[in-house]
Amino acid sequence: MAAITYELIKKDKQTGARLGIVHTPHGSFETPTFMPVGTQATVKTMAPEDLKAMEAGIILSNTYHLWLRPGHDIIREAGGLHKFMNWDRAILTDSGGFQVFSLSDMRKIEEEGVHFRNHLNGDKLFLSPEKSMEIQNALGSDIMMAFDECPPYPASFEYMKASVERTSRWAERCLEAHTNTEKQGLFGIIQGGEYEELRRQSAKDLISLDFPGYAVGGLSVGEPKDVMNRVLDFTAPLMPENKPRYLMGVGSPDSLIDGSIRGIDMFDCVLPTRIARNGTFFTSKGRLVIKGAAFARDFGPIDEKCDCYTCKNYSRAYLRHLFKADETFGLRLASYHNLHFLMNLMKDVRQAIREDRLLDFKEEFFEEYGYNKPNAKNF
Ligand SMILES: [Zn+2]
Repeated sequence: MAAITYELIKKDKQTGARLGIVHTPHGSFETPTFMPVGTQATVKTMAPEDLKAMEAGIILSNTYHLWLRPGHDIIREAGGLHKFMNWDRAILTDSGGFQVFSLSDMRKIEEEGVHFRNHLNGDKLFLSPEKSMEIQNALGSDIMMAFDECPPYPASFEYMKASVERTSRWAERCLEAHTNTEKQGLFGIIQGGEYEELRRQSAKDLISLDFPGYAVGGLSVGEPKDVMNRVLDFTAPLMPENKPRYLMGVGSPDSLIDGSIRGIDMFDCVLPTRIARNGTFFTSKGRLVIKGAAFARDFGPIDEKCDCYTCKNYSRAYLRHLFKADETFGLRLASYHNLHFLMNLMKDVRQAIREDRLLDFKEEFFEEYGYNKPNAKNF
């Protein structure tokens, strides 16, 4: 039995969006879903019980950060990442590649792997497909990601072609190095930037290797939204129907809906917790920045429509006060609300698929959120 399997329940008649279930050794979750990000083996300020209360079935953690600190040997000794962080539902780990390519400026890419400097202390390090598998096997995540090259945006066709071919060779090496196939599923990552021909080549190479799931990589790296949607339009249909499809690094409400419409099942992003730490809240009427003077005497909730712990118990005035006074409870309440908002949005998306009305739902949501306003951006 494969560690990871996908069950398609139905497709939305308006858009073709997929309602499904992903089964893992640590339970099953419905898709499309959003995965909260726990970079350092913790979703910042959230206890596992909080994430369960908002029905998170899977969270993401970062291989690069856990490798550097505390070290994967310590996590293996602790009994694996689930036990170490007290999370008994599913975990996905990335390959470490994205952080090597984004955090480190002293890097050198070779066929064997990538040389770079530790962003914490400057030490020389080397990450390869084999090393990434060794670390992820030690962490014991349910879903592991293949080690790929993350090319910059924009990149020329020639650069991208060489990169896609190397990513395919690295994917093969990842499969060979993966030692725990019974309990951990390894996903391949389709690259190719905005070039249809290269996405096609990458998908073909990786599908021939028969991974239990596939991701679309290299998006949400600074390209305009219409480029992301266009790339998904021609990439998602290349992906197997009977396996989960994961769009990496995407978490703005519009992109979660647009991605679901294009047949994506899983998403992750640090956005909800990152903006929370600046006192920015998602609401059904768009983003709200709590520090403004207008909220000093506003005793209503952040979002009238939200039934989360924060909105049920605390006012805008109180939250503004916490942020003005730099109190850590504010960070926790904001993170809670923002994660709940996205988990709830995905629940609404799944319900709309059930009722064959995802396009209508998108129209209603975009209208209320403000995406349809002229010059709407940065949501
Ligand atoms: Zn709320």
